[in-house]
Amino acid sequence: MTTASHGNDDTAIFGNRFATKEVPTRTFPSTGMPAQDAFRLVAEDLVLEGDPARNLATFVTTWMEPEAQRIIAENLHRNFIDHAEYPRTAEIEQRCIRMLADLYHAPGETMGARTQGSSEAIMLGGLSLKWNWRKRRTAAGASTERPNLVFGGDVHVVWEKFCRYLDVEPRIVPLRPGKYTIGPDDVLPRVDENTIGVAAVLGTTFTGHKDDIVGINDLLVRIKRERGLDVPLHVDAASGGFVWPFLYPDSPWDFRLEQVRSINTSGHKFGLVYPGIGWLIFREKADLNEDLVFTENYLGKTDATFTLNFSTGSSMVLAQYYNFVRYGRAGYTYIMQNMQANARALGEKLAAMGLFELIGADEEQLPLVAFRLLDHNGFDEFDVAWQLSAERGWMVPAYTMPPDAQQVTIMRALVKETMSREHVDTLARDIEQACATLAKKGGAHEYERSRMVTGSGH
Ligand SMILES: *Cc1c(COP(=O)(O)O)cnc(C)c1O
Repeated sequence: MTTASHGNDDTAIFGNRFATKEVPTRTFPSTGMPAQDAFRLVAEDLVLEGDPARNLATFVTTWMEPEAQRIIAENLHRNFIDHAEYPRTAEIEQRCIRMLADLYHAPGETMGARTQGSSEAIMLGGLSLKWNWRKRRTAAGASTERPNLVFGGDVHVVWEKFCRYLDVEPRIVPLRPGKYTIGPDDVLPRVDENTIGVAAVLGTTFTGHKDDIVGINDLLVRIKRERGLDVPLHVDAASGGFVWPFLYPDSPWDFRLEQVRSINTSGHKFGLVYPGIGWLIFREKADLNEDLVFTENYLGKTDATFTLNFSTGSSMVLAQYYNFVRYGRAGYTYIMQNMQANARALGEKLAAMGLFELIGADEEQLPLVAFRLLDHNGFDEFDVAWQLSAERGWMVPAYTMPPDAQQVTIMRALVKETMSREHVDTLARDIEQACATLAKKGGAHEYERSRMVTGSGH
């Protein structure tokens, strides 16, 4: 056989000339290729990716119903921002905002925005906090030079990003071993007349717990009464916004609390929609600074927009609305309770092995298991994560906590909608097996281990 057999005649019949050639990676291709070849080239690359069903690291949705997938696939050609051409899509966005405001106990009619995720929602919410603060200060003839924002070390990185991008001093409450959320005593010494707001988390990415939002609200109410300082509270409910209303409906964290003025949530986390969609909901219209709203006359229709993005897809908004009407409160409650039951089952199995300690499993928590080794006998959490992935393909992350709890390493397994009890039992066995392997051969992560040895708590 000669190389001629790989020529055009054969590829025209068999396709996929990249079976034996390097794929384009650096220079812009001078010629194209048949659709089938392009399809296979991309698809074959992705075969090497991790399996989303075994990705217990992500909070983001990895499965939706076939009907929802159909809605998504059939609306990819619809630009969400073209409100004049696609008024029903715009109306469906507004329905979602109203339903979330209702779920979060907004006292009356309010405003909100669809965003790409919680990060965009937090940038916008933070901007509104800053502009409202500046308006209050200007009206009082006071300086607007040094705005600050108070939050804990348990927040997502986007809060520090907001502070750096928008020139706001971050006043960060440090964590410490055993204390992974914040409360009123942490906030009190950091609040002053230059505080644009306090950000509290409902469902932290680190351990899945909530800051003491009730306590912080009570403190801010007291500061308002005693010192005349009206400091708004923003709740970052990226994950918790679709968990607490269903698992802990009687636990107040939302607009039932007086100082909570805005809330963000990620539709693509426990809202059960594929990425990317997020929401920002204000308590009242007045909480959105009106100078941030752009009113455009676009193609003959007046449109008020408050987003960083312009063009984006409609599919995820439609998919979010699909989930709301498909599941309702009862459906979301059913799904969340299943996830919680399986998370608890996994936690119990891990605890029963005698190797691990669970972090705050008896508190209100996202459906996940946060755990750590009781002892570091020759291997650490990074080794367990690595071994588990190598042996069984499970992706369960190990990470160190933020300052000042850096010496603490935690592992975290999200228990999603598709994680059945059978998966949980298998995962528990696989974790035990990975630890048994490590006990025999020792760990591989010298750097991490030496760092652990210098830490306390073991
Ligand atoms: C995920 C997350 C974010 C960022 O949200 P995206 O939707 O990924 O942009 C912010 N805060 C918390 C607490 C999160 O869990």
